[in-house]
Amino acid sequence: SAPGQANSQINLSLLPLGDHEQLLLAHDVSHLNRLEQTRRDFVSNVSHELRTPLTVIHGYLELLDPEDVPELAPVLGEMRAQSKRMGQIVEDLLTLSRLETQHEVVDERVPMEALLATVRKEAEALSQGRHRIVLESSAGVDLLGSPKDLHSALSNLASNAVRYTPAGGSITIRWQREPAGAVYSVSDTGFGIPASHLARLTERFYRVSSSRSRDTGGTGLGLSIVKHVLNLHQAQLQIQSAPGVGSTFSCHFGMARLLPPGNNDET
Ligand code: ADP
Repeated sequence: SAPGQANSQINLSLLPLGDHEQLLLAHDVSHLNRLEQTRRDFVSNVSHELRTPLTVIHGYLELLDPEDVPELAPVLGEMRAQSKRMGQIVEDLLTLSRLETQHEVVDERVPMEALLATVRKEAEALSQGRHRIVLESSAGVDLLGSPKDLHSALSNLASNAVRYTPAGGSITIRWQREPAGAVYSVSDTGFGIPASHLARLTERFYRVSSSRSRDTGGTGLGLSIVKHVLNLHQAQLQIQSAPGVGSTFSCHFGMARLLPPGNNDET
């Protein structure tokens, strides 16, 4: 720490200059940390402030009866849909803000059979019979972590698979053991993602095609949330995709996160 600075951070790195000499580089990144903190606080505050007015607007829109003014019915429908979408963006931003400032999760048993069944049901509700949805669960273990956050991460991947797969396609949700732990994956036969986009996919609001994503009701924050939830569980996200063929999103959990299936009160 630099003298007199409570939150200062200096990054040190050693640069080899030959056989016997090294250069020590000290880089003061305190101001970057403070900027990052300001950005986080700003996003969080704006999201909080937007929540109440949005709830009011949404509430009044629900009260209006399209039959009173039939010529305005399509407009009213669009306003309701957009206010709902804005509400979802605000909720996702608040979730991201919380995840970004959180350093660890309160560990609980996450019963995987029940969670997988829920994820499948949610995907089926979104698909409305347009896709074949298969669940293959052979891991026979539960997870240790935050039930709420893992639910949102795992169901986000399944809902993306539905949203980015044309009608008639297949989606397979898997929960399997692997040598280093267990893997949850979602494979689809959808649009796929060009390789040049893969590295940036988990950035906030990053989209391969904005119009397609908006049409399918996304907020652009789903994969960011997935990435943060996995980080908090020391799990890795792997993405394999081929345009026109489909994608597989896999979450690799280490042994320390696995529990033999059992009662809720064991942990
Ligand atoms: P969005 O709300 O836009 O879906 P996400 O963060 O969930 O936001 O995803 C970011 C982008 O990644 C999407 O806009 C889409 O272009 C791409 N994507 C995510 N999942 C898939 C998938 N299963 N198949 C094809 N593209 C995907």
